[in-house]
Amino acid sequence: MSKPHQYCITPKDLSAHLFEVTLTVAKPDPSGQVFSIAAWVPGSYVIRDLARHVVSIRADADGQEIGLSKIDKSSWQADACDVAITLTAEIYAYDLNVRGAHLDRTHGFFDGACVFPAVVGQENQVCELEIRPPGGTAGSEWRIATSMPVVAAGQYGFGTFAAKDYAELIDHPVEMGNILIGEFEAGGIPHVIAVRGHAHFDMARICHDLSTLCTYQLKLMGAPKNLDRYVFLLYVQQDAYGGLEHRWSSSLSCSRRDLPRRGEPYVSENYRKFLGLCSHEYFHLWHVKRIRPAKFTPYDLRSEVHTGLLWVFEGITSYYDHLVLVRAGLITTSSYLAHIARAITSLTRTRGRFRQTIEASSFDAWTHFYRQDANSSNAIVSYYTKGSLVALALDLTLRKESKGKCTLDDVMREVWSQYGESSEGMPERGLETIAREVSGLELADFFERFVRGTIDLPLHGLLREVGVDLRMRPASNSADKGGKPAAKDKTPPPWLGAALAERAGKSMFRVVHSGSPAEKGGIAPGDLAVALDDLQLNAANLDERLKEHHVGDTVTVSVFRDEHLMKFRVKLAAPPEDTCYLELESDPDAGTETMRSAWLTGN
Ligand SMILES: [Zn+2]
Repeated sequence: MSKPHQYCITPKDLSAHLFEVTLTVAKPDPSGQVFSIAAWVPGSYVIRDLARHVVSIRADADGQEIGLSKIDKSSWQADACDVAITLTAEIYAYDLNVRGAHLDRTHGFFDGACVFPAVVGQENQVCELEIRPPGGTAGSEWRIATSMPVVAAGQYGFGTFAAKDYAELIDHPVEMGNILIGEFEAGGIPHVIAVRGHAHFDMARICHDLSTLCTYQLKLMGAPKNLDRYVFLLYVQQDAYGGLEHRWSSSLSCSRRDLPRRGEPYVSENYRKFLGLCSHEYFHLWHVKRIRPAKFTPYDLRSEVHTGLLWVFEGITSYYDHLVLVRAGLITTSSYLAHIARAITSLTRTRGRFRQTIEASSFDAWTHFYRQDANSSNAIVSYYTKGSLVALALDLTLRKESKGKCTLDDVMREVWSQYGESSEGMPERGLETIAREVSGLELADFFERFVRGTIDLPLHGLLREVGVDLRMRPASNSADKGGKPAAKDKTPPPWLGAALAERAGKSMFRVVHSGSPAEKGGIAPGDLAVALDDLQLNAANLDERLKEHHVGDTVTVSVFRDEHLMKFRVKLAAPPEDTCYLELESDPDAGTETMRSAWLTGN
């Protein structure tokens, strides 16, 4: 067997944010070895052209520098050579992002796709990675957290690690610094949470709750054969929320207020959101990391790869992330219903749901969902939000039509058994084929209408089957995201149909909804708010200003557009019933009660 590719990464200059990466290839392509850096990171469907962070690169053979030519935006070719080549690159790392690389005096973090060149044509070769500490005293207290298997390193220490191939090498993000470690077991498998950036939280509680949620998911889906460890890497910031899935780990970021304080007995809204994020990324260890679209098998990281299935992987995962929390007893039923109601509210306010299907949203994620602008809510639909509600509708349809015999859980377990442990990816119509086979139901109409069509989901009737009433009402104010009944004695303001955002002390129209009074009157995204009639208008007083008027009143909205003062006559309309809350039917019949309990407990 030929020698593994030898990678080495060193935090070379903390102040200049530079990692040095070396790569030695024992048997390079004799006609001129090509090296490339990914254009995108698996799990995040936008072109990032990560090679732009390479600030220097050279190749050596036999102790002599050899020629290295840039052949496209992401690739270099070394001169023809029949002895080992060592590539040395300096990589700028100052992108504080779960899918980036970041280095300063406090820590280092990298997603392998950002820092490790691939040896083109030899991607299946075993890789060894040496991770070195920074020079001097800066990193003397630093520890390492990664799910990458250790070859020679102490626990949480610097040393040598290994990966079966290049795809695995870049699937184990690494955090180094003064990290807090929490350890727990789930399903007999050791799990770690490594936290950086914050110390004042209840680690014991987080470990307990994560153990509960991981144990539930392992029971639901069945533990993958090669899941012998799992690491949550968490970076706590002032204001952050995000995650990226990997097969044996996830990298997460959250805000300080999202973590529970010691002794806090309840689940705050922020902590619920944090648990939902962990649950989401953990569910991905099956769904998108081991079960993958055929189009991602293997990943081609040079350019966009289009699939209509992102709604399957992100939508179904978004459905299960909170369903698992309620089933595992980590959140209450009412908290779960409020979460669904907020998703329904968000979708109802998205006029783009009539213009884009979730299959098209998936396909165009690269240029639409990941590149949103002021018109996005009028033109596109989120494959996360609508995808999660299509998953809910599919689950409830299966339960209803099969009289409780078949559920989305059964479909997902079959998806796992067909595509999970094999290297075969899911074909574009794979989910519907399995759903039809497992349930014995004819579901073509469901997929035509709700996945390849833009017809609104029949959630009202489907939720009724499980004893849940879906109610709609107007928004109480511009911060109202739904989930609860309207506050009594509050009349909703008349509808303008535009949202203001505060930026650098100025209030700017951020979104103007299609068909709204604001759009008909002439207001456009980017306009700076000046006044409504004769009174000052800004993001903070918009609701108050509108409440001074009635439905049907015509008002004058003054704005600056490119320094020109413009005045628009706007006829305020009745607020749309676009805000959802869900209520449990108080006295359901026995059949409905059984269906509801089966849905919410998973038993
Ligand atoms: Zn996701």
